[in-house]
Amino acid sequence: MSYVFNHLDLIKQAVSRFPFGLITDVDGTISQTAPTPQQAKISPLCHYYLSNLCHHLALVAAISGRPAMEVRDMIKIEGMVYIGNHGLERWAGGRSEFSKDVQDYFGVIKTVIEELTPLLSIEGISIENKGVTATIHYRICHDHQLAERRILAAIEDSSQAKRLRIIQERMAVDLLPPVEVNKGTAILDLIREYNLQGGICLGDDLTDVDAFRAIHAACHDLDFQGFAIGITSQEMPKKLVEEADFILEGVNDVERFLKWLSQTVLEPS
Ligand SMILES: [Mg+2]
Repeated sequence: MSYVFNHLDLIKQAVSRFPFGLITDVDGTISQTAPTPQQAKISPLCHYYLSNLCHHLALVAAISGRPAMEVRDMIKIEGMVYIGNHGLERWAGGRSEFSKDVQDYFGVIKTVIEELTPLLSIEGISIENKGVTATIHYRICHDHQLAERRILAAIEDSSQAKRLRIIQERMAVDLLPPVEVNKGTAILDLIREYNLQGGICLGDDLTDVDAFRAIHAACHDLDFQGFAIGITSQEMPKKLVEEADFILEGVNDVERFLKWLSQTVLEPS
């Protein structure tokens, strides 16, 4: 695995391009994984450096599976772009904008959550309604494997869940509309919209693999140089490291990297 801090010269080449964008996942990347999503907080150092970078980069964006407004409320940095629900939703001008094709799924998600209510009798399981998607969390269950099996069985039995895309993440199962919108398509939209010539993408989980592939597609198809950086942990999916150009070891390393990036952007040598 290629550790970021052994390849800073190469990364610097991408950073020196203009316009340059930084796109980061939230949970497990700039915030330590918490027992429940409500308890997660952005690392103060990441917050500090992201605020700095906002003044100097063409784009600083956060992209998360959480609803866009929740991402905005967690980070609260003026000038940052907030993408929620794995790319399906964007916070702009004080409100959420949903991508086309997903409007019909608010009702489906509501029905599926009703059908999955019996799961709540298992201690530690919670179901989060995120409007056009839902997430079933089981991090605080005693027996993770058993909880996961029960969740997947309940989804199998649900009549409406068959209309959705199921993604197994770190201690959570996501239910999403079956549309071709993901973190990757959202990133390609941002690269085009901001005409980015360079970029870095940070992520720690399975849905970030789409984002990494988008960075590589942009390198191949557009005048763009960028790198995908995977944040490693004991729970990380194998695919993440396979698709990443470089790795950082946990949120503390992300803090160090954002510090380096701030210094590099401020004092280009
Ligand atoms: Mg994450």
